[in-house]
Amino acid sequence: SLEGKTAVITGSNSGIGLGVARELARAGADVVLNSFTDSPDDHAIADAVAKEFGVNARYVQADMSKAEDCRALIEKAGRCDILVNNAGIQHVAPVEEFPVDKWNAIIAINMSSAFHTTAAAVPQMRANGWGRVINVASAHGLTASPYKSAYVAAKHGVVGLTKTVALETAEDPITVNAICPGYVLTPLVESQIPDTMREYDMSREDVIKNVMLKRQPSKEFATVEQMGGTAIFLCSDAGAQITGTTISVDGGWTAL
Ligand code: NAD
Repeated sequence: SLEGKTAVITGSNSGIGLGVARELARAGADVVLNSFTDSPDDHAIADAVAKEFGVNARYVQADMSKAEDCRALIEKAGRCDILVNNAGIQHVAPVEEFPVDKWNAIIAINMSSAFHTTAAAVPQMRANGWGRVINVASAHGLTASPYKSAYVAAKHGVVGLTKTVALETAEDPITVNAICPGYVLTPLVESQIPDTMREYDMSREDVIKNVMLKRQPSKEFATVEQMGGTAIFLCSDAGAQITGTTISVDGGWTAL
C-alpha cells in the first residue's frame, strides 16, 4: 500500500498522467495533479479522484515550460515521496521545417521540467528516507522516428537524466527510472493522427495500423492503467533495487 505517501504527477489532467495518478490513488497514495490550466474542470478531476479512492487529491496549476513553476509545484505540494514526470507535448515536422518555438517548448516541457522538479524533490526524499522518481519517457527515448526530432531528442535526454540522477541517489533509499511506453491511445496520440495522415497521405485507419502500430508488434495500444501498474511496481519493495533503468511497456516495439 502507498498509504502515507504523496505522489506529484505532472501533466495529469488527462491521458497517462491522470491514469497513473488514479492507479497511485487506488493504491492509497495522496495525489497532487497538475497542468498549466486552472479551470473548474481541473479541480473537479482531483475532487473525483479523492472521492473515488478515499485519498487526499489536489490540483496545483503550474506550467511545466517554466523553471520557476516546476520548482513551485514541488513546494506547493508540501510533500513529494513519488514524483512522476509525465507532462509532454508533441509536434511532427521535418527537421528543416521544425518551428523553433515548438522545439523550445518540447525541450522545456518534455525534458527540462523533469530536471527542475527532480532537483526540487530529491532533497526532501533524502530527508524523508524514501523516494521514487518515475519519468514517463517513451519508446522514442530509446529509438527514433522521422519528423519527431524535438520529441526524440527530449525523450533521449530524459533517459540520460534518469541514469544520472539514479547514480547521484544510488546510496539513498531513492530510485529513479523511466517508463518507456509505446503507443497509448490518449489525447496526445489522437491529436497526432491528422498530422500523420497528411504527412503520409493515408486514411485514419491506415495511420493507426500501418504507421502508429506498425512498430508495435502486439498491434494493440497500451493502456494508461498499465502505465499506472508499472509505476506501482516501481514503488513496491520489489522495485527497491531497480534504479537508473528503463522499463518498456511497448508491445515489443523496442525488440524489433
Ligand atoms: P496528453 O496530451 O493526454 O497528456 C499530456 C499532459 O501534459 C496533459 O495533462 C497536459 O495538460 C499536460 N501538459 C501539457 N503541457 C503542459 C505544461 N506546459 N505544463 C503542465 N502540463 C502540461 O498525452 P499523454 O499521451 O497522456 O502523454 C503523457 C506523457 O506520456 C507525455 O510525456 C508523452 O510524451 C508520454 N508518452 C505518451 C505516449 C502515448 O502513446 N500516448 C507514448 C509514449 C510516451
